[in-house]
Amino acid sequence: MKYLFGPVPSRRLGMSLGVDLVPFKTCTFDCLYCELGRTTCHTAKRDSYVPAAAVLAELEEFFRSPSGTACDYVTLSGSGEPTLNRDLETIIREIRQLTAVPVALLSNSSLFHLPEVRAAVAGVDVILPSLDAVSEAVFTRLNRPVPGLTAAMLVDGLAALRREFQGEIWLEILFCQGINDDEAEIDRLQAAVARIEPDRLQLNTVVRPAAYREARPVSDAFLRRLRQRWGELAEIVVPFRHRQLSDIQADKEEMILATLKRRPCTTSDLAASCALAPAEVVKYLDLLRQAGKVRKQEHAGETFYFAG
Ligand code: SF4
Repeated sequence: MKYLFGPVPSRRLGMSLGVDLVPFKTCTFDCLYCELGRTTCHTAKRDSYVPAAAVLAELEEFFRSPSGTACDYVTLSGSGEPTLNRDLETIIREIRQLTAVPVALLSNSSLFHLPEVRAAVAGVDVILPSLDAVSEAVFTRLNRPVPGLTAAMLVDGLAALRREFQGEIWLEILFCQGINDDEAEIDRLQAAVARIEPDRLQLNTVVRPAAYREARPVSDAFLRRLRQRWGELAEIVVPFRHRQLSDIQADKEEMILATLKRRPCTTSDLAASCALAPAEVVKYLDLLRQAGKVRKQEHAGETFYFAG
């Protein structure tokens, strides 16, 4: 499978079948905290980045296979910003014909100010957009958008999405220590959340090796304080506690571990050696680290993983 990965354990969506709609690190942002590394194709141009027919053929094959029942969501996500794919509306419509599994969309919210993007995503069940900053200086520092994108455009786009979209919106805010965790920014975020009216507000921080050193996690106590302040709407994104992995998933986990027993690797090395999507490798590394089977170390500005 070239465009599908998983089903992989996701902290927000249970077992999620990832659908990669843009090439690796094709994104409107270059976030300090990105777990996939630095953005290599920094663009706001919508295009047919991957052939829709090939994506749909893989989905058809997956849903015909025995693992076709083993996922909680089909998730349009992957290794960049999926709304950059201009065939999104067709792909969503066709997925609806293939399966009754709910469809989720992960997005950095950068293109919801465009009416055609809001129309394209209308057919999914749940949208998980992110908004990490409201003041332009913090937004630019943390999300490193392409020139021309502003935080005000994101907030306006999300408010418009809320008015038009019939499904659920689970808004995520990811906090980085010393960047978007001061009182003034939190007040601005709170006002934006009140305007956007998401169904859920998910509070998160840096939990995986990040693209840039400046991305450091806030404390658990900070997140708990915010959850209290924002009341019932807010929840802290917790690590995935996995159900029994299927044989295929266990094999993939084992393959990653076996590779690391031979030599330390970066996420990209592992993706290349194991023929897995980088976003899939990241999820399995999470589980292996939680289980104490893998550790990480920085070397020459890169994060390497070791077995043991
Ligand atoms: S975290 Fe998401 S939005 Fe940010 S650079 Fe990575 S892929 Fe793009």
